[in-house]
Amino acid sequence: MNNCIFCKIANKKLPSDIIYEDDKVVAFNDVNPQSPIHFLVIPKEHISSANHLNEENVSIVSHIFLVINKLVKERGLGKKGYRIINNCGELGGQTVNHIHFHVLSGRQLKWPPG
Ligand code: AMP
Repeated sequence: MNNCIFCKIANKKLPSDIIYEDDKVVAFNDVNPQSPIHFLVIPKEHISSANHLNEENVSIVSHIFLVINKLVKERGLGKKGYRIINNCGELGGQTVNHIHFHVLSGRQLKWPPG
């Protein structure tokens, strides 16, 4: 999608700190990290939000979780713990309308979130 910054990152039209890529997804460090480890995993295909998942595209979510599993293990976080967040829509705090999963770790995270 033309004006989507995450499509631009996926297409390498916008620089980003990419930590993983395959044919379906890209993972990159968040430009405004909220914890010592904070990266995002996005599908290369433009899906606006969790509201736009359907029978045809939902398999990307399981792939993203497997990629997260690999990336956290590589960083030694499997046992220490981490948080996976998907913000959806205005009340959910979504600011970029291309579905993405935040992965945060490296400090004790609190609950409930703000
Ligand atoms: P959300 O508020 O859930 O939509 O999250 C969007 C996230 O994207 C925020 O944590 C931003 O800091 C992050 N972000 C926005 N632009 C970029 C960028 N160009 N590179 C990396 N992260 C970005």
